[in-house]
Amino acid sequence: MSDCLFCKIANGDTPCNKVYEDEDFLAFHDIHPKAPTHVLVIPKFHLPTLADATEQDVALLGLMMDRVRHIADKELHLDAGYRVVINVREGGGQEVFHIHTHILGGKKLPF
Ligand code: 5GP
Ligand code: ZN
Repeated sequence: MSDCLFCKIANGDTPCNKVYEDEDFLAFHDIHPKAPTHVLVIPKFHLPTLADATEQDVALLGLMMDRVRHIADKELHLDAGYRVVINVREGGGQEVFHIHTHILGGKKLPF
């Protein structure tokens, strides 16, 4: 998707502060962090929202959670714990319509 911000970050056209990358996923620091550590994990594949996922995306969603666990543990060392958030559509607070998982940590988070 040529007009998608996170596709541009995924293909290197737009810079990011990278935390982790593999063949299918990229993780980078959020530009407006809402916690001491705030990282976004995105698939390189363009899927607008969780609500758009189908049976065909089940493996991708499972892999994304596995990468979240790996990144929080091995890259960010959030040993005390962290929060995982996926905002879905406008009503859920989603602003960038390329599915992504927020990892928030680094302090005790209020509800
Ligand atoms: P959403 O509200 O869609 O779940 O989250 C989008 C997130 O992307 C927001 O937390 C916002 O701060 C972040 N963001 C928006 N534009 C950029 C950008 O250009 N670079 C980075 N690193 N993060 C961005
Ligand atoms: Zn995209």
